[in-house]
Amino acid sequence: MHHETLLAARDAIASKKISSVELTTETLSRIAQVDPSLHAYNEVLGDRALSIAREVDSGSRSGPLAGVPIAIKDNLCTSFGRTTCSSKMLANFRAPYDATVVKKLEAAGAVIIGKTNLDEFAMGSSTENSAFGPTANPWDVSRVPGGSSGGSAAALAGSLCAASIGSDTGGSIRQPASLCGLVGLKPTYGRVSRYGLVAFASSLDQIGPFGWTVSDAALMLNVIAGHDPKDSTSANIDVPDYLADIDNPIKGLKIGVVKEYQSMGGLDPEIKASVEAAIKTYQSLGAEIVEVSLPNSAYGIAAYYVIAPCEASSNLARYDGVHYGHRTSEPVSDIIELFSKSRAEGFGDEVKRRIMIGTYALSSGYYDAYYVRAQKIRALIKADFDKAFEKCDVVLSPTSPLSAFKIGEKSDDPLAMYLCDVFTVTCNIAALPGISLPCGFTTGAKPLPIGLQLLGPAFGEAKLLRAARMYEQATDWHTKRPTM
Ligand code: GLN
Repeated sequence: MHHETLLAARDAIASKKISSVELTTETLSRIAQVDPSLHAYNEVLGDRALSIAREVDSGSRSGPLAGVPIAIKDNLCTSFGRTTCSSKMLANFRAPYDATVVKKLEAAGAVIIGKTNLDEFAMGSSTENSAFGPTANPWDVSRVPGGSSGGSAAALAGSLCAASIGSDTGGSIRQPASLCGLVGLKPTYGRVSRYGLVAFASSLDQIGPFGWTVSDAALMLNVIAGHDPKDSTSANIDVPDYLADIDNPIKGLKIGVVKEYQSMGGLDPEIKASVEAAIKTYQSLGAEIVEVSLPNSAYGIAAYYVIAPCEASSNLARYDGVHYGHRTSEPVSDIIELFSKSRAEGFGDEVKRRIMIGTYALSSGYYDAYYVRAQKIRALIKADFDKAFEKCDVVLSPTSPLSAFKIGEKSDDPLAMYLCDVFTVTCNIAALPGISLPCGFTTGAKPLPIGLQLLGPAFGEAKLLRAARMYEQATDWHTKRPTM
């Protein structure tokens, strides 16, 4: 395959070692062969992809991603194909416009090859909450790829694209990257436009890339970052060239190790050992390890699982069978019954659970006890990070407490599923950038990838990527591929 990495694929096309049509055709036939056992894609856009590839080959389309097949999560609006959010509610929805990220990718010459599976409306950590069935992990197809961007992660890990796009509200890029042996980057809130991303929890949602390497993620961020007048929360801050200094190690890098994480239960011992080995690697590269304290992170999950459902309950009110979405064909006697039957039929269990929790927490009498308190915790978590970044450049932790678990293992236990997000949610709560990169494998008959997470200060992606690249240059985990 010519997409061992995104950069390699891009350069192979640019130097005419392979044409975009050849690479796209090769990718489509691999999808036909492998995706029936993965279900990474909700929809493959073969004809359209090939016609874009022809434009690249004829020279009428160019850019930093010219000709490479890219997969995008199916909660990004596209004027072509369907945008389903893996929900029965939107199973036939055709968006009238392209998300800004989609526009930017295509303006950069990318060949969008398909829309990937996700947990319904991006709610979940395993991609099992899809109305169209789960996605499997290419490292072991009996296991989950993580979620909610599990389709985008599995599509890349299975070599069914050269890079992919996900969204991350509480870890949905970093956790599946960790479980699939990839680099996953969640940019600072406001770094990438959310215009055309179907909203889950608007104060937390952010779009970001998956790549095999830190440089691939940097190239993708170069293309998708930047201010967008169509998203009032996007930041009007210059976008540096994230690839420019990526290979230059940071002199005197200070890595923050979180005091409270040392005594945390629920962390797989093999993951703990891999992360400790990564700390040693950084030390051998000259980095200084400093202890930092994030005392309020212990309340991160509790605050997240109030704030995210509250915002979701409001955002998902539009799916009533009239404004948007599935409409019941059962007889109804009034509009309220039409709404409630349509919503009962259109949404899956996890989405209903979130809507009910959010509606409850926002209702009068409970608002102060839940929503307001969660917002206070949010401010405290943010203040903890501000303090930590006075002492260090990046904060290091595991990405996920567990490696890929079996499909079905946690589907009846929502709380166990929520605990997968312990290390990832605080990054969204504090609106920071975070990256997950491969740092080892479990032992056992089928070794499973382990991920290392680095968090940086707001708009510190350049530093974060360089710090991640230092580790990557010293190790070879990122070169491992599943055999499929
Ligand atoms: N697993 C988290 C949740 O279920 C995060 C989801 C996400 O980042 N989209 O809400």
